[in-house]
Amino acid sequence: MLFRLAPNTPRFEVFRLLNAELLNFLEQAVNTNTFSRALFTQGTLGQACWDNAKENDARAKSDLTRDKFQKLFIELNDSGKDTKQQLFESMRANQDLQVFFFNPQRNLFDFLNEPCRKTLKSLCTHLYCSTKDVPTIVRVSGGTDITAHFNAYSEPTVNGNVCKACGMAKLAVFRAGVPDVDQWRADYDHQLCKSKYPIFAVHPDNLIPLCDVCNQDAKKAKDLFKHKNGTKRLAFYPYNEEAKGLIDIEIDNLHDPEPTIKVNWNTQDGVLLDKLNTWDEIYEIRSRVEGQFRSLEAIIEDEIRPRHPADVQNGIHYEARPHSPNSLKRKEWAFWYQKLFYILEQIDMAPFIAKWDFVQHQAEDGGEYILNE
Ligand SMILES: [Zn+2]
Repeated sequence: MLFRLAPNTPRFEVFRLLNAELLNFLEQAVNTNTFSRALFTQGTLGQACWDNAKENDARAKSDLTRDKFQKLFIELNDSGKDTKQQLFESMRANQDLQVFFFNPQRNLFDFLNEPCRKTLKSLCTHLYCSTKDVPTIVRVSGGTDITAHFNAYSEPTVNGNVCKACGMAKLAVFRAGVPDVDQWRADYDHQLCKSKYPIFAVHPDNLIPLCDVCNQDAKKAKDLFKHKNGTKRLAFYPYNEEAKGLIDIEIDNLHDPEPTIKVNWNTQDGVLLDKLNTWDEIYEIRSRVEGQFRSLEAIIEDEIRPRHPADVQNGIHYEARPHSPNSLKRKEWAFWYQKLFYILEQIDMAPFIAKWDFVQHQAEDGGEYILNE
């Protein structure tokens, strides 16, 4: 994450309860060979999961919550009591995600056979995609559905509306005159992806709203703790770690026709470098920033709109002032542009400004030439 999450970030109660229901189910499953209502918690939530079944819903074309639980149960039962015990214990032992990020268990489900893995994944995906919206379940969770949770998450006094992973995009566009319940919301990213870490699919600390670019274009199902080639890596824990103080912007070849703007890490700490590189690989941070900053001339023109050479230096000075914490929560790209202008303020811009001035005059002369013809 570029910015850590706010300390008052609300956890989504529906996820907390569904996560507890799943853990309870795995525990109850250890000592029985019969699939029944007794595998679910006694109250309304357990009943709602039990009632959400194909046989109770004439419109259902595919499996619902109970059917998904049942399919997992059948496969686990075939695998034997030890498998059931191990799955329950793996889930119970890894509920503290801060501990998990510090010491990731990368091969948590290697002991499961393919049918168990498949049905577990299918159940967990269903809990996340469908069960969370079942009206009774939202009601027992205090009435906060996912849209209401997103609105609370992105309050200006909480996390605001800028993506915590990149700082380059809004989470969702806010529309005036539209009721809260109908506002658009961002998708939630599973930090530990559903496909590789299914038991965290509804863990309340594992789900974070991110911008579309981070979630859908860049991250997809990348593994926070393993490179593509399988080697180990570490990742920032979003609730208390962040990259924002570890970043430098560097300008190369200022005298060239097109200076290059680069993002670097300003730490020598091996663990932090590992986490920065993971963050960069997952969300494609450097290439996105360097892509946005590929023309310094265009940035000066767009952000400063100078009319005279003196405007360039004054504009840089003006734009280099730090943002308030509230601006960083409201304005996409604010962090990155301020960082760039701060660096531009430190370096000798005279050659660049002279070139800029020359190009402007050429353009004017060219314009006059055309007019005079
Ligand atoms: Zn983002």
